[in-house]
Amino acid sequence: RSARPDHYEVHPEDFDFAQSADYLRLRQNLKIAQRSGLPIPFFNVHQGITNDRALIGGKEYINFSSYNYLGMSGDPAVIHAVQDAVAKFGTSVSASRVVSGQKTIHVELERAIADFIGTEDSIVFVGGHSTNETTIGHLFGSGDMILHDSLSHNSILQGAMLSGARRRPFPHNDWKACDEILTELRHEYHKVLIVVEGVYSMDGDYPDLPKFVDVKKRHKAYLMVDEAHSMGTMGLHGRGMSEHFQIEPRDVDLWMGTLSKSFGSCGGYIAGSKELVEYLKYTAPGFVYSVGLSPPNAAAALASLRLLQEEPERVAQLARNSRLFLQLAQEAKLNTGTSNNTPVVPVITGNSENALRLAYVLFEQGINVQPILYPAVEESAARLRFFITSTHTEAQIRQTVAAVAEALAEIDPEYGRSLRAAPT
Ligand code: PMP
Repeated sequence: RSARPDHYEVHPEDFDFAQSADYLRLRQNLKIAQRSGLPIPFFNVHQGITNDRALIGGKEYINFSSYNYLGMSGDPAVIHAVQDAVAKFGTSVSASRVVSGQKTIHVELERAIADFIGTEDSIVFVGGHSTNETTIGHLFGSGDMILHDSLSHNSILQGAMLSGARRRPFPHNDWKACDEILTELRHEYHKVLIVVEGVYSMDGDYPDLPKFVDVKKRHKAYLMVDEAHSMGTMGLHGRGMSEHFQIEPRDVDLWMGTLSKSFGSCGGYIAGSKELVEYLKYTAPGFVYSVGLSPPNAAAALASLRLLQEEPERVAQLARNSRLFLQLAQEAKLNTGTSNNTPVVPVITGNSENALRLAYVLFEQGINVQPILYPAVEESAARLRFFITSTHTEAQIRQTVAAVAEALAEIDPEYGRSLRAAPT
């Protein structure tokens, strides 16, 4: 197909999206997913609150497919706080907070988050994804470098690309590799950002954060920790990785987290110094040019945070459930990869088809868990990913692990054998 600068031949795919290469590729991928004759396991419609259980197609399932880690979404106290906030403030703040969308509930929530984490201040955004995208994209630019874990979440990658900074991944959790890159290249850049996650959402492992703090100090870099999956789940009181490792909150420049997991809501935050937060409030595009967090979302997050502080046993129960699930899975010789007593436990099946099949067999038995298939992970790393919550019972966990082991033995009689050779 020829194209001259002053003359383009326009084909149907250039004006009809249904015929575009992008759309046709998606259809092709969905067809591959259906190769096995199994239903596509995406966009399942849930008919009620999703916690340790889910109502799908009128049937109740034991559920491991959502990160309602502390059962806050659907908790009566949280629902009540949301109802009050809606009655008082309405359903939307109907403006950017800079303009006229700021409510008392925003100020209270940001103070509560900062106090809980131990930073000077915090700022909340309408989405977790957009928090990373706009913050990283805005604070860094050409002449800077962003070093991120090779398994970083898409929102971190999008932010890094938006920034225009040089982007360098380092091998997963490898602080030494990060250190080496900086030894070689630090002098070529103005600002350097190192981004890691508190708990990795595909593998359930976590970085040696004190080592990353050393690296950032040695090389005069900024350090950002995405606590999407560690806030509320790690540390004795759920304060996340600073509590888990007993590190000074100010040793991390940007504590990022979402409101959508332990905080039963929707949105994201950045916690850090008062200067950083002030700068973001006046200049971050995703904050300045976007509506303020809705009253129901702000109220849900605030009520969840308070409940978490009043009821630390939720965090303890989550830790017990996570440990039990992992221990049983390991006893059953399931390949749980590098999962390390966090509420994310993968069961690696070795290929996408087996993951799809296993999810289907479990679903038939009343257990809902999401398969993670290529290209989301390498084909050989296809898996089911179990999100554990504080509301799961011991019986649900025991029943599930036994069902997984039994179904896998049937689907892949070689599974146990290949496991011995597989990296863990
Ligand atoms: N960071 C990480 C590590 C995540 O896993 C996610 C989503 N699960 C996000 C950011 C985005 O958060 P949200 O879904 O609340 O937009």
